[in-house]
Amino acid sequence: MASKKTKVVDGYTAIRAAQEAARHGRGDPLRPDPETSKEKSTADPKAGARIGRSVMPSKREVICPECGATSSIVGKVDLWVCTQCRHRMKLQDLKIEAGDWNNEIEVGGTVTILPGAKMTGGRITANDVVLQGEMAGVEIRACHKLTIHKEAKPDWVRLKTLDMELGPGVNLTPGKPIEGRHLGLHGKFSGNAVLQGTLTIYADGDFSGQLKAAGLQVEEGGGFRAQLDVKPENAPPPPKPKARAPAKPNPRLRPPPPKNQNPPRPKPK
Ligand SMILES: [Zn+2]
Repeated sequence: MASKKTKVVDGYTAIRAAQEAARHGRGDPLRPDPETSKEKSTADPKAGARIGRSVMPSKREVICPECGATSSIVGKVDLWVCTQCRHRMKLQDLKIEAGDWNNEIEVGGTVTILPGAKMTGGRITANDVVLQGEMAGVEIRACHKLTIHKEAKPDWVRLKTLDMELGPGVNLTPGKPIEGRHLGLHGKFSGNAVLQGTLTIYADGDFSGQLKAAGLQVEEGGGFRAQLDVKPENAPPPPKPKARAPAKPNPRLRPPPPKNQNPPRPKPK
């Protein structure tokens, strides 16, 4: 019990320390050169992270809508086949234009619902969903990530996602606790979030309410007022190793075969 309490305090301490460090230009403790540090202090503290991200090869995490297995895709793939359950889907990206829409689609790419699109029914299953339009009856499942833009009108009852990101200018007060893995905020969130992963509050983000999560990151400039329960133990336990195939008997230990392997059949009468 005592250790849990310590960890909650540690979350606060870490944020304070990070913010202090950023304020004093000590952005990177791994960079001992004081000259470099001074130059860095005038630069955008986020520049490093941004460059780091852009250098990364375009690798996407595709999550199977059938079995939930995760696979990494690098480069262009048209047809994706789940390695676990053999479920197939196209990895194409789709855009849904302004106007009424009522249909059923499943893709492993990104579905962008543009401003002015009114989703009156049907179902969308996609790896990533960018919501700028209105949910008016549609069911949306983002197997990986849902991004909510300022113009979006989400319907929390008909929405499922693993990760969620709020775009700049969003002011979200969901009527129910948000559950998922990671939550990233460029906009404002007021409410209750229960995360198996990390809450990231970017410089233009703001969180207020209750947070239960496994990790927490707050960029300098981000707003944060919350009742906290942040500890690594809030992450789900690692998947259990697959049940081993029944061990084959060691041939050396096998008892010698019976001498008479083919006993004579009873003679037909
Ligand atoms: Zn699968």
